[in-house]
Amino acid sequence: MSRSRAHHTNPSRQRLPHRLAAPVEVAVVGGGLGGLAAAVILAERGAKVSVYEREQFLGGRAGAWTDHLADGAAFEMERGFHAFFRHYYNLRALLRRVDPELRMLVPLADYPLVGPGGLSESFSGLPRTPPFNLLALIKRSPTLRLRDALRVDDTLGRALMAYDPEATVARYDHLTAKEYLDRLGFPPKARQMLFDVFAHSFFNPEEDFSAAELILMMHFYFLGNREGIVFDVVDGPFSAKIFEPLSAYLAERGALVHRGRGVEQISAASDGRHTLTLEGGERRRADAVVLAVTVPALQAILERSPELGDAAWRATLRRQSVTLPFAVWRLWLDRPVAAERTAFIGTTGLGMLDNISLYHLFEDESRAWADAHGGAVVELHAYAVPEAADEAAIKADLLAQLHAVYPETRGAAIVEERFLLRRDCPAFRPGEGRDRPRVITPDPGLFLAGDFVHTPFPTALMERAVSSGVLAANMILRRHGCAEEPLWSVRPRGVLARWIYGPPTSAA
Ligand SMILES: Cc1cc2nc3c(=O)[nH]c(=O)nc-3n(C[C@H](O)[C@H](O)[C@H](O)COP(=O)(O)OP(=O)(O)OC[C@H]3O[C@@H](n4cnc5c(N)ncnc54)[C@H](O)[C@@H]3O)c2cc1C
Repeated sequence: MSRSRAHHTNPSRQRLPHRLAAPVEVAVVGGGLGGLAAAVILAERGAKVSVYEREQFLGGRAGAWTDHLADGAAFEMERGFHAFFRHYYNLRALLRRVDPELRMLVPLADYPLVGPGGLSESFSGLPRTPPFNLLALIKRSPTLRLRDALRVDDTLGRALMAYDPEATVARYDHLTAKEYLDRLGFPPKARQMLFDVFAHSFFNPEEDFSAAELILMMHFYFLGNREGIVFDVVDGPFSAKIFEPLSAYLAERGALVHRGRGVEQISAASDGRHTLTLEGGERRRADAVVLAVTVPALQAILERSPELGDAAWRATLRRQSVTLPFAVWRLWLDRPVAAERTAFIGTTGLGMLDNISLYHLFEDESRAWADAHGGAVVELHAYAVPEAADEAAIKADLLAQLHAVYPETRGAAIVEERFLLRRDCPAFRPGEGRDRPRVITPDPGLFLAGDFVHTPFPTALMERAVSSGVLAANMILRRHGCAEEPLWSVRPRGVLARWIYGPPTSAA
């Protein structure tokens, strides 16, 4: 991380003692990135941490588990390809615990986008300073002329560069991303290549995605950070590179990581402590609880814990929801793809296909398989999949698109395949911006973490999961008079925010 480019969000809270004076027992429910981030910080500070993870593997939606190919060879299957952006400061700080030089991260040279009729965009080589990155992109984009850019709705265009945590929600959360983009008035091809693809990457369909969340995403990924939008990938399975090392790191600090131990119910006692009931009925006690599960899992725990929190908070959590399903299809092909192909491309306007990643170009296990078999390991993703689409229809569509984009795959036989259709990513619907759950809850010993939880600085996806986990740990440290873990952010507001909305009004 280049910290000189990052904003330090909590500098005044680091002069207190680093370690907890007395052992505090903390239960972390959920072993995804949010839960593990909280667990790592608290274990480092001397808390007695117990992580309860329902699955046998850690990592949640970024997790991986052992599977076997037909010839008996073991491999690690993942929930899907992940992009590790260079402005994921807090995620990177977590990964440095197990890989101080971040050697696991392989930089990609570009973030190419491919559209219908051979349309393409590239995000490599842009200036790093906003708004010059946007101006340079417009200048060289084949789908957009400066003349077109000047015709866009001025107010909405400026709103993109004026992200503000309060004003953006107040002014744009009632609109869908589709309505916002329709009114913005970009030429259709430019809109498709620069915006539609972007909106879709957050798993939510444009017609049911808050415009305020889209503006936040544009700010976080492109207009508000100086690291650029080109990202890194992990050179091995996430289990081997991230989650097993994190588990060992926690064990070295006395934390207990329980796999296959889902939490069913939580109750608070009058002394402020909590009792967790695990699947199977066993009970465990804790001074504080970090709940870092998915939205449906949180709602299920809440249903079984009728006295947790208060009525308003429970109603807020009941209103959260998941977005449409997404599909991940990994294919082992019997022949290579063309030599000029890149590790990853994003796609738009090509049926259900959202991206193609060539695992054998960056991941060690897949590279070994491709070398040994003269083949290729390809992963296709489809986000915001219509509910009516079944596995056969999704596969037929994705394969047709793969053949169109990489014609050399037309004659390839599929030697092995794994298909995942899941529905557990949070929805960010219009009108819900103010209703986003916070890390703190009405119960002073209970905290939330996860990629659906509000953070007071711009974040998304993995970086939001980790940042909220660190925020939860910091709340516990603060309660016990300890220094907080530093948290880092991209620019808290857009370059035009002061000009349009005045000085900041929130704690961003
Ligand atoms: C296919 C795909 C591609 C993605 N690509 C990217 C990307 O490129 N870049 C990016 O930044 N993000 C990406 N994401 C999003 C990213 O994976 C998530 O934002 C992040 O992993 C969420 O972490 P989390 O800790 O909030 O939740 P999760 O990872 O969902 O963790 C929640 C954990 O809680 C556990 N749990 C549930 N119920 C219980 C219970 N009752 N008791 C105990 N444990 C329980 C679950 O098993 C899980 O391990 C992608 C996601 C998917 C699915």
